[in-house]
Amino acid sequence: MLLAEIISVGTELLFGEIVDSNAAYLAQELAARGVALHRKTVLGDNLHRLQEGILTALGRADLVILGGGLGPTDDDLTREAIAAALNETPTEDPALVAWLQGLYTARGRTMPEINRKQAWLIPSAEALPNPVGTAPGWFVRTGGKLVVALPGPPREMRTMWREQVLPRLPQPDFALHATTIHTQGIGESNLAEVLGDLCRGANPSIGTYARQTGVDVRVAASAPTEREAAALAAPLLEQVRAKLSRWTWGENGDTLAAVTNRALGGRTLGVIEAGSAGTLCTLLAGQSAFLDAAVTTDHRRLITLGLTPVTLRDQGLVSVQAAQELAAGAREHLGADLGLAVVVGTEGEQAGQAHAALSGDGLNETVSVNWPGNPEQTRERAAVAALGLAYR
Ligand code: ATP
Ligand code: MG
Repeated sequence: MLLAEIISVGTELLFGEIVDSNAAYLAQELAARGVALHRKTVLGDNLHRLQEGILTALGRADLVILGGGLGPTDDDLTREAIAAALNETPTEDPALVAWLQGLYTARGRTMPEINRKQAWLIPSAEALPNPVGTAPGWFVRTGGKLVVALPGPPREMRTMWREQVLPRLPQPDFALHATTIHTQGIGESNLAEVLGDLCRGANPSIGTYARQTGVDVRVAASAPTEREAAALAAPLLEQVRAKLSRWTWGENGDTLAAVTNRALGGRTLGVIEAGSAGTLCTLLAGQSAFLDAAVTTDHRRLITLGLTPVTLRDQGLVSVQAAQELAAGAREHLGADLGLAVVVGTEGEQAGQAHAALSGDGLNETVSVNWPGNPEQTRERAAVAALGLAYR
């Protein structure tokens, strides 16, 4: 099995000024390709630390992928660092110089002298053409191992990865099969309790990840082929599905909006939101065919939509009763088959409290959320819980 490490190069990455999306992309690509990724490192534009980082990575991995630092300026040091790590001397490649000069001539300009280092090669490196920029990459074969250097701009990196690097990598001898189960209404630690000993295996394995829409559970296995990996994962996957069925709303690429749409089966949904800043409608975005919505905290408007003044006076807007009246109102006043309403308190005593209700087709269900602290999180929790009523 090919073992890889990624080194992302750039002081701006190290300081958090930009997010390392390249490494995330590469990690997904490697997993899909059956390459085992063991480490991602971020290093600043420093020759000594880069050289040391490359040597250390080469000591552990078969494939070291570097991203960034291939520009023409003095702080672009990836080429220098690879050459130093491998104890090789860079020389200008005449074909690359001609190619670079051609790029500048085509734009009616002369190539600045500093760009010459983009035409460097070392004896063990093959140049990777860059169809979308000026920095060629390097594909280095050294002592049975591979070092790949790609430019930092994501569009260039991705194009070159697909067109230049993938065809040069050895055929995978290992495949990963993973299924992600999306849950809602159960926290990560309770989930670990429910799954118990099932969580302890290494292959197949289980991982849990808290997300905005609830906790995701990933069941994965690796084997020489995709088919064997799927077969290895299957019994555990069935056990996990059975244990989590109460909380499961979807798998893999499912979205809450799509799952809700499916559950509605052609019925229309009216939504009224108060205090949630449209979070519920945002979750449903792209499903407007079945959706009509009102987002408002204006009491007069809410009364025209079904909220009774008595409820508003006695129980307030952030109450179960108000959510129920607005859910019925969403059906009647928005002319939908089903009405869904969510009321969220983000200030004062009611901060963190939220209620949602679903009405129609003989259904009259409610759910309450208490998540004080951060108004945005309260809104998200409330919206996800509200949708939970609609897709069940
Ligand atoms: P250039 O020729 O543009 O200088 P380069 O190979 O030297 O290319 P860098 O200077 O390291 O690349 O990065 C150029 C730009 O690419 C960065 O300013 C940033 O916008 C983007 N970039 C670099 N690395 C990453 C990364 N790991 N994830 C996301 N974006 C990145
Ligand atoms: Mg640069």
